[in-house]
Amino acid sequence: MLDSYRHKGMRRKLAASIKEKGISDEKVISAIEKIPRHFFLDSSFTEIAYQDKPFPIGLGQTISQPYTVAFQTELLEVKKDDKVLEIGTGSGYQACVLYEMGAKVFSIERHRPLFQKAKHLLEQMGYFPKFFYGDGYKGLPAYAPFDKILVTAGAPEIPDALLQQLKTGGILVIPLGSGANQVMTRIRKLSDSDFEKKEYGNFRFVPLIGKKA
Ligand code: SAM
Repeated sequence: MLDSYRHKGMRRKLAASIKEKGISDEKVISAIEKIPRHFFLDSSFTEIAYQDKPFPIGLGQTISQPYTVAFQTELLEVKKDDKVLEIGTGSGYQACVLYEMGAKVFSIERHRPLFQKAKHLLEQMGYFPKFFYGDGYKGLPAYAPFDKILVTAGAPEIPDALLQQLKTGGILVIPLGSGANQVMTRIRKLSDSDFEKKEYGNFRFVPLIGKKA
């Protein structure tokens, strides 16, 4: 795995462009500047890995656009040692960003080959989120509650299990909608029965799927 000066230069430009697009959390920007995104992609994408675009990662899935990763991460208001659950490991890039920001990361993926590949890659890179193969709809009751929960696939509705597994005061970020576009939504848990909901515009994700592949 080679991370050349050229890659680092492209990454600096990408981080700067994301800042220009309005992301202000410096921890998010510096994680994007530090993490070699080309490691998460097939070698045929090495030259274009630092374009602000999603790319295929196999099995019909995608690594999200860096701006989208940054936007969702900023909405999560990640603090050091936050326990963060990610639904939809995919390539492992988002999990790596959260880990780099000092979070304790738990990430679930429903496609076994993607789960295995991400776990192996991050170990090689010296990042150690806890990866799980399973159905993110159910969350991870054995490890709950979480300070933050991030869903990185388009969800037709908010899975009830995720609301239950969120701490009071915690934040859930989830792209909601079953059509081609989803509305980025942030839910803050005020009490066991009270939730504050805010919407942050349209994004486009692959769908969250209910059963294990
Ligand atoms: N966060 C990823 C990254 O950094 O590469 C990108 C996520 S990709 C847009 C969405 C992922 O969610 C896919 O890998 C897909 O297999 C996964 N997924 C879909 N439904 C799921 C479910 N019910 N539980 C867990 N993962 C799921």
